[in-house]
Order: sequence, then C-alpha cells, then structure tokens
Amino acid sequence: MAVRIEDLIDIQDVRQARDKNSPNIIPQDTFRHIEPLAKELGFLETHLLKAQDIATGRWVRLKCRYGCAKYNTSWCCPPAAPNLQMTRDILSEYELAILLVSENTNEHFYRNSGVKRRIQIKQWKSTVALERKLFLMGYYKAFGLPADTCALCKECAYPKQCKFPNEKRPTLEACGIDVFQTVKDLGQSTGLVRKIQDCFYSYSLILLA
Ligand code: SF4
Repeated sequence: MAVRIEDLIDIQDVRQARDKNSPNIIPQDTFRHIEPLAKELGFLETHLLKAQDIATGRWVRLKCRYGCAKYNTSWCCPPAAPNLQMTRDILSEYELAILLVSENTNEHFYRNSGVKRRIQIKQWKSTVALERKLFLMGYYKAFGLPADTCALCKECAYPKQCKFPNEKRPTLEACGIDVFQTVKDLGQSTGLVRKIQDCFYSYSLILLA
C-alpha cells in the first residue's frame, strides 16, 4: 500500500522542532525517493515517522529473556543488544525513522529450517542494504534495526567475534522497541496471526536523521 507522507508526518512540525542551527535534513520529497528503493529491496510498505513516536517498553526485553531461545546466543539479541536506557538515549538523537513492512508466510516459523533462515537473511540484508543506500544519499546517521534475528550464520559466533561485522545490527525488539504500539500509533494494523499457514507482517526500522 502506498502511504502518502502527508498522512503520517507533519514535516513543518519536524522543521520547527529542530535545532535552528542544524542543517536542513528533510527535503519535502525525501520520502518519494526512499519508497521505491525500499520496494526494490522487497519491502511491502514504507512509513516515515518521528523518532519520538517509536514506542519502547521494558516488557519487550522481558519477552526476549523469558520465552525466546535466542536470548544470550546472538550479537543481535539481549543481553548483547543496546539496553532500554541506551535505546531511549539513541532515539533522542534522531528526529526521523523509517518503518519497513515485509509480508511473509512461513509454516516453519517455530522450527529452524532453511526456509525460515532464507526469509530472515533476506529481511536482514535488505534492511542493511537500504541503510547503506540512505547513508550514501547523505543520511550519515542512518542505522538499521532489522526484524527477527540475524541468521547470516547457521549458528551465531556469540560471544566470539562476529563473522560478518559489517552486517551486525541489533534487532528492534532486542533494543526494547514496542513494535505493536509503534505500528498501532501509525494507524496501521499489525494483523495478529493465529494460524501458522497465514500471512504475517514483520517490521524493520531505520533510524534516519
Ligand atoms: S553475522 Fe553471524 S556471528 Fe555475526 S551476529 Fe550474525 S549470526 Fe552472529
């Protein structure tokens, strides 16, 4: 679904809120350049949002700690990922972010499988690739927080040195970002999936500027 920037964010607000001395970071047509790049990389939807509208919560990392087998096994997950306070401090240094939506079906969601890993790798690499493109467009602070977890290696080298440090990023949930609330606040539905064969959405973020 194509989303008009005017529906999501008041650019004038952002400009007024910004420090008067900072450069003009968000031309009116920025989003129109970014959206096709995201589409090329396989994202279904792209939403521009204010960094202050990214919800965070302590409960998110509680779910990582209790109930996720990846806890303490990956560079991209807690406790290696930035903690909640660090995440909030980092978000306060940004004004804009991009939420990227992917649509998937995966009957192997709860099992480790080649199919699951392929989906994870595609999302991961697409997020990092878009971050790189944005950096080259002049958004030097662009930083990707991909969905799910890093599956570039069959088994993460953690706590030994990462094998692909250029692509190492923390996932957004690992940083304590409340994805459900953030998506809801954008006026979008997360479309909770109850049957394993149904389509589900997954979300990545890029902190932009
Ligand atoms: S690239 Fe490999 S070692 Fe590095 S975080 Fe990802 S899975 Fe772990």
